[in-house]
Amino acid sequence: MFVIHFSAECYPVAKVGGLADVLGALPKYQQQAGLRAAVVMPYVRKPFVESHEMLIVHSGEIVQDSVVKPYVVLKERHDVLGFELYLIQIPGLLDREEVYCYPDESLQFLAFQHAALQWICFAGLQPDIIHCHDHHVGLIPFFLENVPLFRRIKRTPTVATIHNAQYQGWQPWDMLRFYPPFDDYRAFMLEYNGQINPLASLVRSAWHYTTVSEGYLRELFREANGLERLFAEFSFKATGIVNGIDKQVWDTKNDPMLANNYSLKDAGRGKQANKLALCEQYGLDVALPLVVFIGRFALEKGADLLPSVIRQVLNNNQGKVNFLVLGSGDAQVTWELQQLFGNYSQQMGLYIGYNEGLAHQIYASADFLLMPSWVEPCGLNQLYALRYGTIPIVSATGGLRDTVIDISEPNGYGFLFSKADIGAAVTAIERAISLFENNEQVSKIRKHIMQLDFSWEKSAAKYQAIYTELVEVK
Ligand code: ADP
Repeated sequence: MFVIHFSAECYPVAKVGGLADVLGALPKYQQQAGLRAAVVMPYVRKPFVESHEMLIVHSGEIVQDSVVKPYVVLKERHDVLGFELYLIQIPGLLDREEVYCYPDESLQFLAFQHAALQWICFAGLQPDIIHCHDHHVGLIPFFLENVPLFRRIKRTPTVATIHNAQYQGWQPWDMLRFYPPFDDYRAFMLEYNGQINPLASLVRSAWHYTTVSEGYLRELFREANGLERLFAEFSFKATGIVNGIDKQVWDTKNDPMLANNYSLKDAGRGKQANKLALCEQYGLDVALPLVVFIGRFALEKGADLLPSVIRQVLNNNQGKVNFLVLGSGDAQVTWELQQLFGNYSQQMGLYIGYNEGLAHQIYASADFLLMPSWVEPCGLNQLYALRYGTIPIVSATGGLRDTVIDISEPNGYGFLFSKADIGAAVTAIERAISLFENNEQVSKIRKHIMQLDFSWEKSAAKYQAIYTELVEVK
């Protein structure tokens, strides 16, 4: 079976968040399970692309609003990622340094989807499944169904995976002039609340849709940034499949980004050695519990709560706890954290920016990982933390609720608190500080969480079952 994934991100080519991690891992595990898997993404000027041999496998041109735009399809020559990687390059549109945040982003992703499908049709590729991830590639099932140019692969089953329904790719109707020609009367399939909504179109037109945890699927029926009714209407073709961990990348024994590698057997020593290196770097006391946050400073991550939560915990527990924050995003949150850091630099470390290596070192060093998320479709940070022996303190939402059991429950190993509640987050951290005093209990939990199975094999098999069913009904 041949599956082609379409995505804006893929680790280690271009990563902004968890979407990249999934696209860097799922196709690899599918390939290992005997499928042929490929990822198609927009060309970005990133170190991976510039340091690997890229072959031009196809060239052509698309027409947008009567303007002819040439494109090339590049393939990473040696399949070093464990699957086929293709990048679509369009001069002036898809050849930039960042993945997102350009004012003409809608046009970029539109051109990407148009060129990618045209290439597949013209080059004679015959995928069994087309798998689309999030709104950036949300128009593909609609295009397959309605654009005569793509007639050759019209009956290819499509799977949509919703990694984050907060972002929907809204477009004004005048964007239609850039679309490949299709029957006008079908435009209602693109519409939601008066605009073009690529995520809504994806959910409507895909043969099956999945979300990155079961909990998130249930949540979407109640809270989906306006699309609740749509998700519920199409629930008959929905499945929640939790993300996994790429065990080759996230491996305490071999992770090249760690100051000290460690195994399950010597996790206590290994984590302490990493913590020492990190605490020295940030001027923190290694003897105190280290609570960390890694992520985007966005409302959905609960980042707006962070400054108040950290301030309250530090005030209530003077000299008993340290914090380290790694992230970037919202300007107000950044400013508040910088102010806080100014006042508490002895008990707090702050790194504003994106740093993959530092993130790995933090997962390996920390005692506790804080995730006060408002919305968390799956959450990978808590899974990486668990694998690296770091105890999660998370709000009870989406994938966090599915993957973390509170320590008060049988076989519990983390701390859950009500979302968007500063007081509840403070209490949960204080429960963690108390736990830290019990060395024996901490090391027992650490051993337990490092062995939890969040492997991609299980989740990849669930995707495969969906593919098989779709291919059979085709
Ligand atoms: P998101 O909603 O951002 O996709 P996930 O939990 O699914 O959240 O995935 C986040 C991924 O991005 C994890 O691999 C995490 O380690 C990484 N990450 C987030 N922010 C940073 C940062 N500032 N530096 C390094 N890695 C980061």
